[in-house]
Parts: sequence; C-alpha cells; structure tokens
Amino acid sequence: MSAAKVDLNAMDDAAIQEFMESLPKTDLHCHLDGSMRISTVSELASIPENRALAEKLGYSLPEDTSEENLGKLLFPGHDCESLEDYLRAFDITCGVLQNPENLERAAYELAMDCYAENIWYLEVRFAPQRHIHDDLDGMEVLRAVNRGLEKAEKETDGGIRSTIIVCAMRHYSEDISFYHRKVRDVYPFSTAKELGSHCSLETARLAVEAKKQGIYRVVAFDLAGPEANFPPSHHTKAFYEIINVLMASTVHAGEGYGPKSIREAVAYLNANRIGHGTRVLDEEGHQLLHYLRDHRIAVEVCLTSNLQTKAIKSLDEHPWRTFLDSEVRAPLCTDNRLVSGITLTHEYVLAHKHFKFTNNELRRTILYGFKSAFAPYSERREMLLKAKNRLGELGL
Ligand SMILES: [Zn+2]
Repeated sequence: MSAAKVDLNAMDDAAIQEFMESLPKTDLHCHLDGSMRISTVSELASIPENRALAEKLGYSLPEDTSEENLGKLLFPGHDCESLEDYLRAFDITCGVLQNPENLERAAYELAMDCYAENIWYLEVRFAPQRHIHDDLDGMEVLRAVNRGLEKAEKETDGGIRSTIIVCAMRHYSEDISFYHRKVRDVYPFSTAKELGSHCSLETARLAVEAKKQGIYRVVAFDLAGPEANFPPSHHTKAFYEIINVLMASTVHAGEGYGPKSIREAVAYLNANRIGHGTRVLDEEGHQLLHYLRDHRIAVEVCLTSNLQTKAIKSLDEHPWRTFLDSEVRAPLCTDNRLVSGITLTHEYVLAHKHFKFTNNELRRTILYGFKSAFAPYSERREMLLKAKNRLGELGL
C-alpha cells in the first residue's frame, strides 16, 4: 500500500530538505578527487610522507593545511572564471591521493557520505593516470579504490552499492601529472594531440584489463577535462577499444563547448550517456535533444557545478526544465561534492526551488538514475523495484 501523496508545495524549506534527503537516490556523476572530505584532505596534507611524495611528483600542497585555508583553495564556488579555473582545485586533492591507502580511504569515505544521505547507488569516476608513478601502477590504483568501495558496501550491508568509471583526459599537458611528464620524456618529438590520443588509448586498455582481471566494479569509460580545442574525435581509438569489449561509456560534453561536442560524443564515440550536456539546446531544431531522448541516452545533470564553471550564467539558462518536459532521462548528480561544496540532497533542493518539481517529475528524475546506471541489468532491476516501492512509501 502506498502512503498518501505528498504535497511538495505545502512544505517549508526544512521539510523539503528532509524529504529530499529521505528519498532513495543515485549519483551517476561523481569525481573521487573532487569529492573528498575536507577534514581528510587537511589531515593527509599535513603528514610529512604525503607531502614529500606530492612534492616529488610535482604537486605543491599549501603550507597552511588548516580546513579554513583549504576551504578557500578548494571551494572556488561562484568566484571561479571558467572550467579551467575550477579544475585547479584538483591539484591539491590529487597531491594527497598518491598511495593506495589514501585512495582506499577517499573511496570508502565518499561511499559512506553518500550512504548517509540515502544514495543507494554511486558511480565513482576518476583518472587513474593522475595517481600513477614509479611505485604505483594503474591496476593498483583501481584495486585500492575498489577496496574502499567494497568496504563501504560490506559495512552498510549493501546499503551503498557502487561502481567505477575510468576517466581519460581530453587534453595532454605535462602539468596534469607525473605520468604525463614521463610520457613526454619518452616521446619528445610527438605533438600534444598525438600524446593525448595515446594516453586515452592506454587508459582505455587499463580499464579493459581491470575488468578482465576481475575488478568487477569497473563498468565504464569516460572522457574528462577541458573541451574547447580537444574534440572527442581525437579519442576514437580509445573508444573503439572500449566498444570492442562492449564496455559502457559516458563523455563529458556540452559543458565548456557547444552541441558539436555532444554530437561527436554520440556519433564518434558511441557514448551511452552524456556528462552535463548543458548546451544541447544551442542547436537549432533540437534534433540532438530528440536523439538523446529517443535513444534513452541519459544526461548527467550537475546544476551547481554548471553555475560554478560558468557553463551557464544562471539556472534560467539551464536546459533542465526542457529535459523534464521532453522526457529526456536526466538524473541529478553532484560532479564534485567537495569542490562545489554540495551534497546530492542540496542539488535536489536547488532543482525544486528553481524549477518546481511535480510529484511525477521528481519520481521520474529519481527513477531515471536507477534506469541509467551502468550496473549489470539484474542489479539495476532489483534496485529499481526497491526504489519504486520506497518512493511509494514516501508518498511519491
Ligand atoms: Zn565531471
């Protein structure tokens, strides 16, 4: 028996907050290095061994590792100028994630934080290349994150399930990580475009190998990083590798660049989902929007992140209302809990404040998350049925 229907319009801010937190949720777009606890970054950044390793690998951790100071550096918030500016905060978090223990801890804590706000299913993504160095290879990086997620799943008795999305970078730069500088040493005469394509191919092979070796949480591949000048078409080889083993993929597209980027992600890379897709409506005739809807290609929507990276100037410019009205699958996601200073509950509250959900729209948004998950079908179906029951109990 379902409970009486809730009336979202009759709820005050505190009640909306509590209600959104109580809902079963998914987060399909969440970066590990952008979603650490600030207390953990502060603690890890003050340990001499971590500092020495970070320095050796070219990351400069701040002298003042207090939470107050880190807060200023890690929450660029609405003050940042662009996506590139926003991405700078990741140099600090990546600086402390250079050994298996720290990676495991960050993954475990992220899953537990998600569990605390009723996220039932989490897809954690990150770029393993940023954590690879002489004493840590890509497979070990993935194993460490897998262990952290497994520990959270066990401790919560399956209350938080999770999978891993391996990210390749759109661009090549020696500034990205130690790994990228090593690659440059070996290939001094190659162009950045050539190295970018080759690094993404290597990363794709790592994801494929991890799956082969039984790290079953690795379910998908992604392309992240600045969009302008680094089109998806530079990475077709990496995605062929992924397509050939029938692994799923998602691509950050239409965030820092227009609809062409989304078109290429779908047409050249066979993306099963799109990260952000914020500028999909820039295209006349909305053919692309209809394509995403008709083929059930989900758009992972990250409202606060889009505001902070200046993908949009205000929520009025966001295509979210059009997504809802056109029945595009568009689950809400966080992107970066730490760097954006948010939770998933915050994003649901924000969406409701600005776009006003009807009960049906809120229910659909939640269920789109479960339907679009990259978890195996049997697990997805089980979670979906449970979520439907729970939503009924909660009056949705
Ligand atoms: Zn992202």
